[in-house]
Amino acid sequence: MKSRRFVLTFSPEATGEPITYNLIRKFDIMVNIVKADVTPGKIGHLVMEMTAPAKVLKDGMEYMKQQDVECVPIDRTITYKEDLCVHCGACSAVCFAGALTMNHSTAELSFEPEKCVVCELCLTACPLRLFSIDLG
Ligand code: SF4
Ligand code: SF4
Repeated sequence: MKSRRFVLTFSPEATGEPITYNLIRKFDIMVNIVKADVTPGKIGHLVMEMTAPAKVLKDGMEYMKQQDVECVPIDRTITYKEDLCVHCGACSAVCFAGALTMNHSTAELSFEPEKCVVCELCLTACPLRLFSIDLG
């Protein structure tokens, strides 16, 4: 058995699909939803831990691909150049995982790496391009 965490990105058309249900019932994958941000008609994100034999996980990922659901394993980290940050808040506005937040009393950005799901949305949201991916 293998457990891995993934970020799933749903297209607006795919959000009505019972993806999670099918992963459990059809593929017998143990699913633990860590974080969900899915609204019908909009791009949605799900952070999910899946547990199953490696072959079954691979089949489940292939099924999601067929359903136009992007499924990216979390095995990278995000870093940013804190010293250059101007605290505009643009990155925190897209960070659905809550890893990037603005402190309202100090008006400064706070980054909690342990909450990051490496969705990469902050990479393009930051006007100064301060974020990068560390492939470890
Ligand atoms: S990659 Fe950026 S936007 Fe995505 S969860 Fe991590 S810090 Fe937030
Ligand atoms: S978008 Fe860039 S400059 Fe703005 S708060 Fe985030 S890291 Fe700082």
